Amino acid sequence: MDSRLFGSAPEKRTKNMPLVRCYLDFDGTLTGVTGGKTVQHKLYRACWDGNYKNYAEAEFIPAAGELLRKAFAVFDTTGLEIQDGALKFLKKMLVMENAEIIILSRNRKEYIQAVMTAQGFTDQEIQKIQIHGIKSEIYNNSNKHGAASKIERLNLADIAIVADDDFADQLGMKNGICDVWIAQRKWPLYTQAQEYRESDETPGSLSESVDLSSCDLGSEEDSSEMHILPFSVENRIVLGCHYDIGQFDFDKIGLQLEKEIKKWKERRIDCESSEEYASSEEGLALWAGL
Ligand SMILES: [Mg+2]
Repeated sequence: MDSRLFGSAPEKRTKNMPLVRCYLDFDGTLTGVTGGKTVQHKLYRACWDGNYKNYAEAEFIPAAGELLRKAFAVFDTTGLEIQDGALKFLKKMLVMENAEIIILSRNRKEYIQAVMTAQGFTDQEIQKIQIHGIKSEIYNNSNKHGAASKIERLNLADIAIVADDDFADQLGMKNGICDVWIAQRKWPLYTQAQEYRESDETPGSLSESVDLSSCDLGSEEDSSEMHILPFSVENRIVLGCHYDIGQFDFDKIGLQLEKEIKKWKERRIDCESSEEYASSEEGLALWAGL
């Protein structure tokens, strides 16, 4: 696997901050319109450099960002834009220490970048976001489950957020991440091996083969329109977010993330103090049975 596909993973992690990785769908998750409706929209087609039968084949005009910026200002395009809560969340993640944003979408990377440009993201900010569209190599005839586990295998997150308006995709990414975490726990060295990388292309293959009894299947956060379903594997936690009606509430996701970061830090302090105790005279004496 060519790690350059995935942009720049942080080389050094800050010890006191967890690595937070956000796996986000684009249409209907960050924006207010589903992917199917977006690619049928007149404005979407206005960004094409010619006529195409299929959005997956289309070439986009270089000035698509500028075209969208003007259209968003003048026309009622409600829903095609990245929604306010999502914008705020993305901006916050961009400046947060040890946070990564990954957009996994069946839309086109060119269009996603154009929407971001239209909404004031700088080139530098867009560079920091890993955008994997339908033509990206990470899909490679795979699905969001496979894509998420490919990304996760390169560098395990401490806290992952998964948000997708498609429930199956949300679940797929969450399972893809957890498969890697569970495998890493069971076979810490083996997961590094190429054989393992090759073998984990089938969705759910690992979940079926490992003992899940010691994993904490979290309870549902609440029963409102948006649900945040946590799943933890040892000290790692993934928050799967989806909704039944309305819109994604990224403020709520942000608040939940803050709580998880706080808990992660507390666990870390607990670990450090028990390590310190273990190496103290009293701790050693206890261990030696004195
Ligand atoms: Mg979607």
